[in-house]
Amino acid sequence: MPLVHASLGERELAAVAEVFASGWPAGQGPRGKALEEELTRMYGVGDAVAVSNCGAALHLALLALGVQAGDEVIVADYTFPAPAQAVRYVGATPVFADVRADTGTVDVGAVADLITSRTVGVIAVDTVGLPADYEPLQQLADRHGLFVVEDAACAVGATYRGRMAGALAQVGCLSFHGRKGATSGEGGALLAADVKIAADARLRSSFGIGSIFEMGKVVGLPVPEFTEIGYNFKLSDIAAAILRVQLGRVGELLARRSAVAARYGELLAGEELLSLPVVPEDRTHAWQSYMVTLDARVDRAQVAAALRGQGIGCGHGTWASHLQPVFAPARACPVSADLFRRNLALPMHAELTADQVERVALALRGALREAVSPRALGGAA
Ligand SMILES: *Cc1c(COP(=O)(O)O)cnc(C)c1O
Repeated sequence: MPLVHASLGERELAAVAEVFASGWPAGQGPRGKALEEELTRMYGVGDAVAVSNCGAALHLALLALGVQAGDEVIVADYTFPAPAQAVRYVGATPVFADVRADTGTVDVGAVADLITSRTVGVIAVDTVGLPADYEPLQQLADRHGLFVVEDAACAVGATYRGRMAGALAQVGCLSFHGRKGATSGEGGALLAADVKIAADARLRSSFGIGSIFEMGKVVGLPVPEFTEIGYNFKLSDIAAAILRVQLGRVGELLARRSAVAARYGELLAGEELLSLPVVPEDRTHAWQSYMVTLDARVDRAQVAAALRGQGIGCGHGTWASHLQPVFAPARACPVSADLFRRNLALPMHAELTADQVERVALALRGALREAVSPRALGGAA
């Protein structure tokens, strides 16, 4: 029973066969263009740029927003550390902001405390699929003239106050990695309210030159010139074709993951040795992961070993970025560090059966009892 499982099937395969027949498997072809149009409509943004992954989308976002060496960008700490890496790509300094203990999303009060004269923006993260507090965060950013980027890598299908995750800030970055809710193996997108930001990102995603596919259609022989240093962050048309099918399935796949989450909630309710994920009333979760927080008395490694011994995949969830050696020395984020120590991710994907979910819950309840000393359970007596 793996932790995650990508739901890719016959329809995605048929879409790939069409690309093979078309003779254009590379990026920025007709499928990529159609995908960008669909994303723009679906999210109601100014423009969408299909890219090779979410890390590339974050990098392009910071370049388009003009972040430079010496700038500080405040980043949510409890996450796969792609946001802080992106800040480093452009020579700027990531400043780690602690998170809410209940949701794991960035604590707006912590962000406020970190703003200096060098701060240019904030990257908030929709933690394993749960949107952050964008309204108060945007108000704070507006007061200080800062940009907000939404790392919505895990949040395809989630909502915040009725709006779609991915479109909750001026720039949103999506991941279509194989462990996310919609996938083409590897893939990503940048969503921008401002078409100029998207145009800058699109140009830099393609070595600073326009679409080679489009150029082939021009009559005559205009020779385009390179005016910017860019990268090759294009999404292939093979991946774009897969994603067009996957985007049509986001609702169906998320409904199945939500049912799994609801069932875990019922089966684990009242378990004193863990706390369940919290979803505030004003938002919905995309359930990229289902993480429970273990009681401090529980030996997490022992629980994980017991589950894995029964063929049940599990993991630590995500990272406290500031504790990663690559970012040392960094200021402390105690809440994030505590979640990093105590969270446990359980199997979560659209293919899990009711029986499997029950088996996980039962195995987890048993493993928890074994991984806590009876002395600790009984209190100080
Ligand atoms: C997975 C993930 C990324 C990286 O996405 P890729 O598409 O693999 O580059 C970035 N940010 C967060 C929060 C993620 O979970």
